[in-house]
Amino acid sequence: MVPIMKKIIDIFNDKERTYSFEIFPPKTDKGYEHLLHIIEGLCKLNPDFISCTYGAGGGKRDKTFDIAEHIEKNHHVASMAHLTCVLNTKEEIKTILEDVKSRRIQNILALRGDPPLDNPHWQPTENNFKYSSELCAFIRQEYKDYFGIGVAGFPEGHILCKDKKRDAQYLKLKIDSGADFVITQLFFNNQDYIDYVQRLKKLNVRARIIPGILPITDYQNLQRFCNLCGATIPIEIKKIFEPLQGNPEETLNAGIDFAIRQCRDLLAKGAPGLHFYSLNKLSPADKILNAVRI
Ligand SMILES: Cc1cc2nc3c(=O)[nH]c(=O)nc-3n(C[C@H](O)[C@H](O)[C@H](O)COP(=O)(O)OP(=O)(O)OC[C@H]3O[C@@H](n4cnc5c(N)ncnc54)[C@H](O)[C@@H]3O)c2cc1C
Repeated sequence: MVPIMKKIIDIFNDKERTYSFEIFPPKTDKGYEHLLHIIEGLCKLNPDFISCTYGAGGGKRDKTFDIAEHIEKNHHVASMAHLTCVLNTKEEIKTILEDVKSRRIQNILALRGDPPLDNPHWQPTENNFKYSSELCAFIRQEYKDYFGIGVAGFPEGHILCKDKKRDAQYLKLKIDSGADFVITQLFFNNQDYIDYVQRLKKLNVRARIIPGILPITDYQNLQRFCNLCGATIPIEIKKIFEPLQGNPEETLNAGIDFAIRQCRDLLAKGAPGLHFYSLNKLSPADKILNAVRI
């Protein structure tokens, strides 16, 4: 068997474009069992890597690393574990990273995270990393080149920093602190992504900026999520999906159609791959990937 290329940056050296998925740890044992089947299906699509979120939306934190390890050991696909600074002390982060290393996982998406809903006023102290860039610097300093490090990017600016130029400078700080590549927040207007890449180029950021793609499957959920993360729902999306409310099948089909058009356009304009927010579903990610992969 050919050994898997475990570090995503090594895959970049080999491939002009990568195709990958994000999954999240389910809250129940039954959900976990179901996810293992989904992972099997996603791996059959031959992705370059699969990433697993950490604590997002109150999800189980401890399962992230089990899932990332499972993907590599059982499916021989590179995995990336997300890790957030929020709630973890620096000491705890070190313990977690030792655990991740002992599992031979070599990719970390280094994030600040957000205070959880049940502790919304949580604030970092001197025992915490305040920003993702501090976490990147720590990982690089402690583990040299063992880990490949990804970070989050925000084509429309982060919800707490709508000054896009300043937000891009903070992104550059993450790269200068040791990050290797960027995965973006969802967006629907490709021009936002193109402009973001240009802004970062002007700042001399050479890292790959991989667009994060959310296939729309549930318009109400989308509205809730965009409210939380600050992503814009353009008029074009409203016009397509508002009339379809109450019709899940047509919403799903329209979501697949829109994502295929969005992905083809991004690839034609030079995006170095696509990272799909799978929401732990095999379809529509499989249909979209099969239609757009080049
Ligand atoms: C691809 C992707 C995956 C994600 N996965 C998860 C996950 O698994 N779990 C989860 O909980 N959340 C996840 N998130 C959400 C993310 O944690 C939130 O968006 C969070 O609010 C920002 O995280 P960050 O790492 O970008 O933070 P940072 O880069 O630290 O930025 C946070 C804020 O501080 C500002 N800032 C940065 N540096 C400085 C500085 N030096 N001085 C002043 N201001 C600064 C930024 O502009 C921004 O407003 C993900 C987001 C994306 C795009």
